[in-house]
Amino acid sequence: MSVKKIVVLGTGGTIAGTASSADDNVGYTAAQVGVAQLLAAIPALQGLPLHTEQVAQLDSKDMTFEVWRLLAARCAHWLAQDDVQGLVITHGTDTLEETAFFLQAVLAPAKPVVLACAMRPSTAIAPDGPQNLIDAVNVALCAPARGVVAVCAGVIHGAADVQKVHTYRLDAFGSGDAGPIGYVEEGAVRLLRAWPQGDVQAAGRALAAVARVTAMPPVEIVMSHAAATGAVVRALVALGVRGIVVAATGNGTVHTELREALRQARAAGVRVVRATRCANGRVLPAAADDLPHSAGLSPVKARIALALELMD
Ligand code: ASP
Repeated sequence: MSVKKIVVLGTGGTIAGTASSADDNVGYTAAQVGVAQLLAAIPALQGLPLHTEQVAQLDSKDMTFEVWRLLAARCAHWLAQDDVQGLVITHGTDTLEETAFFLQAVLAPAKPVVLACAMRPSTAIAPDGPQNLIDAVNVALCAPARGVVAVCAGVIHGAADVQKVHTYRLDAFGSGDAGPIGYVEEGAVRLLRAWPQGDVQAAGRALAAVARVTAMPPVEIVMSHAAATGAVVRALVALGVRGIVVAATGNGTVHTELREALRQARAAGVRVVRATRCANGRVLPAAADDLPHSAGLSPVKARIALALELMD
């Protein structure tokens, strides 16, 4: 049997970033080095059946729906090839969790799709990108692996749970209460729990919907906080927003003034979802709730889920 290949799709990020000085880990420009060049510089990856494709080249803080649409289409293309074992996607850390969630929702892949990133630019004295890429390729090569995951600092996170939790440390991601899926240690995967499973039919419908539209339905995030008002919600409704995710306090509580504006938005036909602004935990429903909750999704992921629902 011929050896199956890993396709590495480049989208940019700090992993492809450059700085003018090797000791500068923050004053760099993301998305400067092509994905083929990144791989060519890693001796451990030479001789492996890798194919590269540059899908985008951007700082992931500037991620767009157009890039997601293209990325989803390219992933679907490669995942359908019998000779492809899995995919690796190089990505910035800032919106990595959103891309991971989006791709799992529209692909629910039976093969591994592994997001790789870095906290230091490629020009750093000790860049973390090369090891993260080696780890990501090893996860993609792991035969039972499936679903969209992220690999950073030797930790494997599932798309549903992964969240950037640190601004600077190399181990910048967490999986909250769920914990990581596993670890990559010297090339070997040590699994703690199951790989992400998805609803293949729902994903197929979502992918078709994404291909049909040119823009995501407008869904915005507002935050509940001390002295919050309903001004932003009223402005969004006037602008024609179709969905609002509220990053609520604690267990989904919302400031009275903001809550009233959200009630009025709902009455006007806007979909409203409550997520929590807490880094951990989920909104637990209570009998008196009148605003739906996000079923454990963080505000940014709840926004994507709602936009996909509105596309259907
Ligand atoms: N701003 C960068 C990005 O998300 C940060 C990183 O990759 O660490 O593309």
